[in-house]
Amino acid sequence: MEAKRFISVILPLKLEWEPCYWVKDGIEVSIGDRLRVEFARKRYIGVVSAVDIEPEIAHDRIIQAGSAIEGMDRVSSEEIALWRQVAQYYMCSVGEVYKAAYPVGKSALEEARAAACLRNQERIGKEIKILSEKIDKKRDSIKQKEEKLRSTTGEKAREKLIEAISRYREQVEVLSDRINSIGTETRALTGNIEPKDNRTLTENIEDKGNKSDKIILTEAQEKARDEISTAFSGGKPALLAGVTGSGKTEIYISLALEVLAKGQNVLYLVPEIALSRQLENRLAMHFGRQLLVFHSAQSAAQKRDIAASIRHGEGPYIVLGTRSSLFLPHRDLGLIVVDEEHDSSYKQDSPAPRYNGRDTALMLSVIHDSPDKRCNIVLGSATPSLEELYNCLAGRHVLVRLSERYHGAQNADIEIIDTRLEMRRKGMRGNFSLKLIGYIQQTLDHGGQVIILRARRAWAAAIQCSNCGAIVKCPHCNVSLSLHRSPDRLVCHYCGWTAPLMDRCAKCGGELKSFGAGTQKIEEEAAALFPEASIARLDSDISQNKALEIKTIQDFSEGNTDILIGTQIITKGFDFSRLRLVAVIGADSMLSLQDFRADEKTMQTLMQLRGRCGRRQDSGLFVIQTAQPEHPVYQQIKYGQNDLFQARLLAERKEFAFPPYSRIIEIQTKDTSEGRAIAMSNALVSKIKGSLSGIYPDIDNILTGPYTPMPDKINDNHIRMTRLCLRKDKNLAKGKAALLKTVESFERSERYTGHFTLNVDPA
Ligand code: ADP
Ligand code: ZN
Repeated sequence: MEAKRFISVILPLKLEWEPCYWVKDGIEVSIGDRLRVEFARKRYIGVVSAVDIEPEIAHDRIIQAGSAIEGMDRVSSEEIALWRQVAQYYMCSVGEVYKAAYPVGKSALEEARAAACLRNQERIGKEIKILSEKIDKKRDSIKQKEEKLRSTTGEKAREKLIEAISRYREQVEVLSDRINSIGTETRALTGNIEPKDNRTLTENIEDKGNKSDKIILTEAQEKARDEISTAFSGGKPALLAGVTGSGKTEIYISLALEVLAKGQNVLYLVPEIALSRQLENRLAMHFGRQLLVFHSAQSAAQKRDIAASIRHGEGPYIVLGTRSSLFLPHRDLGLIVVDEEHDSSYKQDSPAPRYNGRDTALMLSVIHDSPDKRCNIVLGSATPSLEELYNCLAGRHVLVRLSERYHGAQNADIEIIDTRLEMRRKGMRGNFSLKLIGYIQQTLDHGGQVIILRARRAWAAAIQCSNCGAIVKCPHCNVSLSLHRSPDRLVCHYCGWTAPLMDRCAKCGGELKSFGAGTQKIEEEAAALFPEASIARLDSDISQNKALEIKTIQDFSEGNTDILIGTQIITKGFDFSRLRLVAVIGADSMLSLQDFRADEKTMQTLMQLRGRCGRRQDSGLFVIQTAQPEHPVYQQIKYGQNDLFQARLLAERKEFAFPPYSRIIEIQTKDTSEGRAIAMSNALVSKIKGSLSGIYPDIDNILTGPYTPMPDKINDNHIRMTRLCLRKDKNLAKGKAALLKTVESFERSERYTGHFTLNVDPA
């Protein structure tokens, strides 16, 4: 008989345990090796999680593991450590995290497409070269002006120089943007595959060997930077709370440069990449070849390339990426930046792991931190999350404020327009008040640009019969269908089901009316009100087409468009120099969410938007149209101090034991049969109450449900929700473990798998 060694293996599955296999004695296996193994008659690539273990079952029932796969890299102990922490915190299996970290690619198809792409590359290479030369010239001019600035003392002259520098920088951004969009077009042409070397595009933007754009921080920025460094020396994360345009990015860049110079690596996280074009160009200018960009829209081949250069590359690197870049094979991280930390797109809703990128980044920094090689983390936002403020209050993180804007730009003035009042005065034209129309016209007359936020896409949110009152609903979801125009069609925003618009009510033949104006309708009204203006729209209907999305943003930043209308997408990360007016139409729809975070989120959206206008020297105007101007959120925006508002929200959360004072865990039940969804969720809840009452005698107070959420049916699945608010005390770990065990044993005993999902810290 052969001598055997036993190993345990992580499989890419929702499996609570790590199965055991044997390998021949003498064969080299180490933790992290990736092997082919068979499990329940299917083949998987598993990751060795332990070697030389003593199996818990009879040796002859254990099967042999396949050999290590050639060319496949060993997973590092830091990666596995992160998987384990994420699984533990977000109550899923390690295998599910592994699966998210190492998705299986469809490599053959990709190779073929990549070849086609290479042929295209030559042509593009020429175009890019011309643009790069232009950029180089602009760069030289910037350098000259900067030099002059150093020797100039006259205030007026300095102002002029600074103005010229920022204008040139903007032109460089525009050119770099164009280079990037050429890349994007190519990707679209060739089936979304970039050239094999994904750095080609940014390489061309880079100043060869001469990353000129030295960072010279202002006094206020210098001070903030020092405070961050002090926090780091004390081993604490820093929260940089700085108004939009205060130069947070500038500080991140300077911190990153320092870390790279020491030979350590940097991870720079952003909530969404498509909207970070400007940032990408800015980072490319400073980091050139060292910059790697990583996001979920890239192909599996591209992702593998980036992972390989992180694992095997020589020089230090900086990754600009979305949350999934946390799972890259990082080594020797010295700094993690979490930009726009408050953004709820950091949270993954589905599938498991349902993790939050911000909180996972905190875990990752601890994993990479050691006494001789520190890994620090800075989180930043103009509108920090209550979670982070609470961490600072509790002394775990250090709050660093930056309240001055660079260029001395003023904050935008704020005007709140009461639409009820305007209605009574006959001062409304559709969804626009006469006042707002006046402001827009004025802005356009002075060559300024306008952004209009409407937090709802489509033309109308719903269609209703004016005779019987019936609302036209999706046959698969319990929601109204939205009306989209040109071509006219009804669309379900939950499952995507679509149908032509009917002439009359299917029930009574009555006339149909639409209500709830969306971005399309606002665009239509704006076109009628401002026939001279060029108008564009940006919402998720547009951004499905990435090339179109980028072009829309580019057109606006180059000044080809006068008015940009869109949903929340437009609040994020853009810096438009001619933007003078930002208006919110129907702001109240953001407040009416059934969400205890609605006020916080609305406040964040409005503050971010306000930060968009009045950058540079001029100040801008921020207009909110609302039917409830007395609402605390608007009052706060207009008159209050954000700090006080946050303090009030925190007090409210404390009183009701909501996060950040508790940990919410949601249990969703999904079933095609409504009766079964109800019965099973009821049965599970009574089990949970039984098993948790020992730890939580007040279980009836901290558990809500099962209740009927809105909507309660999506895609033919009936949904029931249960919510637990667990206190953050010494019982929390015990409580979570007991909950998970109860759910899993219920699933097994009832043979009811695949219907429950657990969501920790839902967004
Ligand atoms: P934030 O990230 O806080 O919104 P940014 O870092 O984007 O702010 O800065 C806003 C604008 O001011 C950018 O155009 C940036 O280039 C410019 N800026 C900020 N600080 C500096 C600095 N120290 N030197 C040169 N330009 C700066
Ligand atoms: Zn639907």
